[in-house]
Amino acid sequence: MGHKPINRRQLLGALGGSVTVSQPAAAGLEKGHKHRQILNQSDTTDSDETEYNTVVIFRNDDPAPWTDIEVLSGVNEVFINNEIPFTQGIVPYDKNEDEGINLEHEVCEYLNSVAEDNPELVENALHGYTHVRETDFFWGSEFGGLTYDQQNQKITNSLQQFDECFDQTPTTFIPPFNTYDEATVQVLAEKGFRLVSGGFYFQRDYFGKEMVWEDNGIIHLPANLAMEDSETQEVKKIDSLEQEYDKNSEEYSLNVIMLHYNRYSEEADKQVLEGMIQHALEDNSKFMTLGGFAEQIENGALKRTEDGWRVKETHSTKSS
Ligand SMILES: [Zn+2]
Repeated sequence: MGHKPINRRQLLGALGGSVTVSQPAAAGLEKGHKHRQILNQSDTTDSDETEYNTVVIFRNDDPAPWTDIEVLSGVNEVFINNEIPFTQGIVPYDKNEDEGINLEHEVCEYLNSVAEDNPELVENALHGYTHVRETDFFWGSEFGGLTYDQQNQKITNSLQQFDECFDQTPTTFIPPFNTYDEATVQVLAEKGFRLVSGGFYFQRDYFGKEMVWEDNGIIHLPANLAMEDSETQEVKKIDSLEQEYDKNSEEYSLNVIMLHYNRYSEEADKQVLEGMIQHALEDNSKFMTLGGFAEQIENGALKRTEDGWRVKETHSTKSS
């Protein structure tokens, strides 16, 4: 147990070093890692590894006890028909109705059937407990600004409710409103989470880190592309989404694409999602879930290179 986080820290220290180049401390680390990267490269010339420009992750937030299953399944089918993996950020408890997802709940039944039919594609992640704004931390938060004990209680409740539906413990946490604080991270680490995915700008402003980094055994990997306009909530135009995608590919070799399923009841909006997927397929991209990212970093199957990623293919999954 004890050596695992150290391995991950070594890998991600270098990973973060190549992204946050401004820090002098990280620069030394990066040098050391580059050396190791070169060694790795020569070790594995003709192995089962593949080079990719960009890792692409779709993060579909907000499936909850109040979800309209028809709308959600319409969005999920876009992913499934294209064989694209996706992470669903699930809110396990409805505070208004005092009702949680459990085996008798139709939303739970639907979520389980999608995961059973597409085990290679679907990750069910935890998206808070009630999704109710509890504090004015940043632009609002369900967790940030609460005490450690309060957050610990909330996450304990969340896990219990999540388990009632999925009979499993999630390893990815997506904080509602994309905001969380040091205490959240501490609780997540203690509960065995591997990855937290907030917002790009929030993370930069609060933690002073851009894109992926690791601390306390937890990988932080924020969404850096929002499918919907933050003010109007409307799905953006495909042209501007493609531009944002290209910029992220260029700068970070990462596109963590956040969407909210409930904005896609119209066919035209689903077409934009379809367009985003097709655009990513034209890039030399590797699709995965947030949990898959953490797992592959941890077991050494995913490595940062000078201008992209090297992925050890474990089985035939879809890539462009
Ligand atoms: Zn949400």
